[in-house]
Amino acid sequence: MAALPAFKRVDQIDLHGKRVFVRVDFNVPLDASGGGAPRVTDDTRIREALPTLRYVVEHGGRLLVASHLGRPKGKRNPAMSVAPAVARLAELLGRPVPLVDAIVGPEVEARVNALRPGEAIAIENVRFDPGEEKNDPQLSAALARLADVYVNDAFGAAHRAHASTAGMVRHVPVRAAGFLMEKELQYLGRVLAEPARPFVAVLGGAKVSDKLGVLERLVQITDAIVVGGAMAYTFLKSEGVRVGGSLVEDAQLGLARQFLANARERGVRFLLPDDHVIVERLDGPSDTRVTDGPDVPDGWLGVDIGPKTAERFAREIRGGRTVMWNGPMGIFERPGFDAGTMTVANAIAEATKTGATTIVGGGDSVSAARQAGVIAHVTHVSTGGGASLEFLEGKELPGVTALAASGR
Ligand code: AMP
Repeated sequence: MAALPAFKRVDQIDLHGKRVFVRVDFNVPLDASGGGAPRVTDDTRIREALPTLRYVVEHGGRLLVASHLGRPKGKRNPAMSVAPAVARLAELLGRPVPLVDAIVGPEVEARVNALRPGEAIAIENVRFDPGEEKNDPQLSAALARLADVYVNDAFGAAHRAHASTAGMVRHVPVRAAGFLMEKELQYLGRVLAEPARPFVAVLGGAKVSDKLGVLERLVQITDAIVVGGAMAYTFLKSEGVRVGGSLVEDAQLGLARQFLANARERGVRFLLPDDHVIVERLDGPSDTRVTDGPDVPDGWLGVDIGPKTAERFAREIRGGRTVMWNGPMGIFERPGFDAGTMTVANAIAEATKTGATTIVGGGDSVSAARQAGVIAHVTHVSTGGGASLEFLEGKELPGVTALAASGR
């Protein structure tokens, strides 16, 4: 793993009277089905950023909050306005946080310059500007004009070199990490450096290609790797198991096979499902069946790990002293296909109760843990799925590197 660059934390700098630009990750789920203004359905990410935001206003900072939300692809899109998230923030912070309907420009500059110590404003979704994701120098310079101090608390966006996470940072004289950013890095860093053993990694979700990088890294530091979800079918198929119509990434079969050989050579236990919950079709009603063994018959597809596998996975997890989980074991969003994921979530909670350090990352696994009612029994809930995987992989996080860079 790359060594963490040295950076300051927000409580190590003088904020009083300063315009403090805080990049947060308010990429929260919204529900617009009520007809009126969209509602935030899960405010975890907003709550997680509160310690930093509260610290800034309580220490006389003039706060400007910036975030992305969804994938507006550089275009203004009212359905992806940060307004609902900012309204929720104002409630939680107990003070007004007016939203300026722009990202940069004279109006934002006038509003931020007029702030008094302890007051706050927010700007619109930074991804409404096409320059954000391109890390455009002009947008970076315009954003930097809004700030005396730059604070990054958006761990979930730290793996992106965008204008508000990287480009603007070197133009601001003082920069620091927020409390959430620091907590995430410390946790993941510490666990990777000296994990209590056995160290068990549990991976699932749809795509192998997203996770092969992290698997390469995990195979060097874990004692066991447990794989479920659609990902498992690519590994199973690479070993000649019949997978029927299950989701498979054929382009990854060669790498998957190589990876399994590598894991075996290193003596890392690699657990794949040996029974599945299967259906004939995903669109419309379809009876579920459980296979006897690892093969999925033609005309059927796997939608969850089977009960025998779930129990085997749970045993492995309960035996771990460090357990990391990213990705569901099946299409857990659909009733009837969620049992395997729930069993894993419960096993993680049991491991925590017996003294293991458990880390759950990635939006789906976090919501599955919440669905199972065990979120309070997870040692560290990571807010950034992609960022935590890239960090574990040993990749540099541009948002973190930028905080440590020196001078203008
Ligand atoms: P990822 O973003 O790669 O972590 O994938 C998460 C998604 O994988 C979830 O929306 C799950 O519904 C989906 N998923 C998990 N298992 C399966 C499966 N067996 N077949 C299809 N999709 C799955």
